[in-house]
This record gives sequence, C-alpha cells and structure tokens, in this order.
Amino acid sequence: MVHSTIPDHIVVFGRPGSGKSSLAERLGTDFGYHLVRTGEMLREAIRRNDFLGKRVECHLAKGDLVPDGLIFELLEINLKSPGSNRLLFDGFPRTMGQVPLLEQFENRLHFKIDCYLEIDVSREEAVARMTGRRICPKCGATYHLIARPPKVAETCDLDGTHLEKRPDDTTEVVQFRQQVYDEHAVPILKYYQEKCPELCRKVNGNQPFDAVYTEARAAIGG
Ligand SMILES: [Zn+2]
Repeated sequence: MVHSTIPDHIVVFGRPGSGKSSLAERLGTDFGYHLVRTGEMLREAIRRNDFLGKRVECHLAKGDLVPDGLIFELLEINLKSPGSNRLLFDGFPRTMGQVPLLEQFENRLHFKIDCYLEIDVSREEAVARMTGRRICPKCGATYHLIARPPKVAETCDLDGTHLEKRPDDTTEVVQFRQQVYDEHAVPILKYYQEKCPELCRKVNGNQPFDAVYTEARAAIGG
C-alpha cells in the first residue's frame, strides 16, 4: 500500500518579493491546505473593530510590531481544531519570540509541523522585483518592469495613463522590509535547520514562478 508522504502541516518562509504568498495559495488549492495568514487575521480583526481589533490597531498606529501575545490570541481564535486539517502557515512564526508560541499550539492542539519550506531568493533579486512593480492609477492594471513590462515605458497599455509605483514599493521601504526579514526570519530558519534538518526544505526562488512552484511541489513530495 502506498502512503502519501505529503506533509500535513507546513510553514513557508520567503522574503518580501519571493512570491511566497502566491506559492502558498497555489499549494493550498492543489493540496487542500488551509492557509493560516497572520497578516490577514490582523486586518480582519481591525475590520471587526472588537476588543482584540482595537488593541491590534493601537499597536499598528504607533508603528509597533504587534506583540507576540496578541498574535497568539488571534491564532487561537482562528485555529479551532487544526488537527483534522492540512495547515499551511504563511507569515508565522515571524520572530524568534513566536517560535515557542507555535510549539505551544502544536502541543495544545495536537498537531506537528512536518515541513519547513524556504523559498530562497537573493536580497538583490527580491528588491529588483519589488521596485519594478507598477500600477495604473486610473484602471488599476498592474505591470512589472522585468516580468510584465508595458508596451510603452511607464505607460498603461489600456488607457495611456502614466504608471506609478505602489506606495509601499519605494526603495527605502523595500530595503527596510528586507532588513526586517534578515533580522527576524533568518535566525528562525537557522534554528529549525539545527533542530530538525530532516524537516527543512529549500527551493531556489531566483527563477520564474512556475519553475519555483514545480520545485516546491517536488520538495514536499507532491
Ligand atoms: Zn490603466
């Protein structure tokens, strides 16, 4: 009898610009993973504007990182009975402080992460991708100077409007986000590589998305 070796509980890592979110979505669709996304949970909590949401908003308004304890509360609400589902964590753990929180979840809710998947993209490539993104302020069409360039430089194909960078794509913000990843995520990856090298997988993210996805599928045995 053949047993599926596809992991049931995955954590995906990848710097901003790595294509991590797109990859997570496609793995979710193809293999039935429920995506656990703390970024989305934070935005939802703010929209609900309940007690938790107000606390989240308060930290974000001050420009602070949302404290790990608050992230834990959010996850607890969102993860009712994860033991029965395939889970894919996208954006958690984000700091070393959240690593023991994940371990607490595993113990309390009786599941085990069986794959830590890293999309390995160089910082230079990630910055080039992020600063190359353009959007049409009139119709919302999106372009990319390398991957999907407009026919005429900096001009929308559909309505001729001059293209703009997205507000969070300025070089300064992009470099800052890369620095945050280097400071917080790289130590987490090192930690797991020492603790459980047999569960760590790395795919080359410095290639077109479809190739990255094919490699990621193979890495999880799918
Ligand atoms: Zn347009």
